[in-house]
Amino acid sequence: MRIPLLMFCLFLQTAFSFAQSKEQYLKSRQEAIHADSQLRFDKDIQLNDEEKKAGVKLQKMQQELLLKYSKEKFFPPSRTFYQSKKTIEETPLFQIMEKMPKGGALHLHTEGTTNITWVVNTLVNTPDGYVFWSDDTPNYIKGQIEFFKPSQVPQGFRKASDLNRTEKGFKSALVGLLTFNEKTTQDSALVWKEFERCFNRVRDFVTYKPVFESYYLEGFKELIKDNIQYAEVRAIVTFSLYDLNHTKQSNYYSTDSILAYFRNIRLQLKATDPEFRFRLVYTFIRGMDASRVDAEFVNAFKMQVKYPDMISGFDLVGEEDRGHPTLFFLDTWMKRDSLEKAYGIVMPFLFHDGESDNISDDNMYDAVLLKCQRIGHGFNLFLFPGLYEQIRKKDIAIELCPLSSQLLNFTRDIRTHPGIGYLRNGIQCVISSDDPSIFGFNGLSYDFWSAFMAWELDLKALKKLSMNSLQYSTLPKSEKELAMAQWEKKWGVFIASVNAMN
Ligand SMILES: [Zn+2]
Repeated sequence: MRIPLLMFCLFLQTAFSFAQSKEQYLKSRQEAIHADSQLRFDKDIQLNDEEKKAGVKLQKMQQELLLKYSKEKFFPPSRTFYQSKKTIEETPLFQIMEKMPKGGALHLHTEGTTNITWVVNTLVNTPDGYVFWSDDTPNYIKGQIEFFKPSQVPQGFRKASDLNRTEKGFKSALVGLLTFNEKTTQDSALVWKEFERCFNRVRDFVTYKPVFESYYLEGFKELIKDNIQYAEVRAIVTFSLYDLNHTKQSNYYSTDSILAYFRNIRLQLKATDPEFRFRLVYTFIRGMDASRVDAEFVNAFKMQVKYPDMISGFDLVGEEDRGHPTLFFLDTWMKRDSLEKAYGIVMPFLFHDGESDNISDDNMYDAVLLKCQRIGHGFNLFLFPGLYEQIRKKDIAIELCPLSSQLLNFTRDIRTHPGIGYLRNGIQCVISSDDPSIFGFNGLSYDFWSAFMAWELDLKALKKLSMNSLQYSTLPKSEKELAMAQWEKKWGVFIASVNAMN
């Protein structure tokens, strides 16, 4: 068959231009990748030779694990945490994450920090410790802990030490009631309800004065063990403490005295762990009415004047979709400037916002416009692309809690957690664990492991996340500089230990 000359020329031209455009396409693709890399949150981090060497090692471990999980068709961050916890712990990478100096844990809650097994062991060994060990009633739920004088024990409560002696498996049954398990995470409609039931069960343990200080000492020591040097804990300090002679209602232990006890805890820690620091975020409840929140906000200023070393900012907690929107309390937030002037202090907003899968939840606008210093979770920020630039400009950090978001059913698979998108968009973030004891673990290592694997992070990102947790803390300048210097020393030791590994 004869091909007309014109057609042949056209064919040659098309083939040639295709070759040219393919080359051009690949160049454009490379440029697009480069442009994205210039946006990343960790673009300013330069690694030295030792760090680069350690980074290659970590990357190799990560890639080998990815391959292994792909072959086994079991990728831990895409399974529920309870299916993957043991698998995570068995990896040498987890030991590295434990060893890594992680800086600060900036998103924790008082009732979700100390290991629950320690709580139960302490309960059975503390006189007058009782557990409601019967079917739920309108007043009490099974597993609810409280301390009573023997003559004042309500029906349905049993002495924890007796139950431990007479009922086989009592302690593990109680731990089960105080923590999440795989079943808890299966029904999204009930998950928050169960979450609050866990808090309600443990609250009167945490607020019992005779165990109050040892509870926090234990919790902070667990953080120290996980190589965390600083914590900012959301604390509802208006929930009064109690003991056998002073009921909660008597308000014998005022907010003021509770903060003084926290100072005692700090002094005790200073003796054993002088580099560890902690501060409290004055916290109240999102579901409360506006006048209560307003009164708490004013009280936060009074307490911060008296305990400037202790109060780091203000926040509201509780299920975001069931509580009031942040805008509901606008009259209170508008008072911040005048209160700051009147008291001569600053009160950073550290709001829980965007922890929602409700498409109409737009609290992120308020979190940004009210200039939060950090935003708790910020999970649904991706719904508001117009806020990205403002967040970067105002230098607001997002407190990502990957496992919490998974366990509370905001995402099933940590790979699709929007946090990775924020990091790639140059939004500064920190990693924290929210309520690790209720989720059944301690510290930050599980969250770091999950983020490192699910988001295929590298050492640069890990370094930046750790540094951010001190840079975006509310520590005063001089303390921050000291904490950073301490962190740098620890980081150097950590890098050397990774390089010394076989
Ligand atoms: Zn939280």
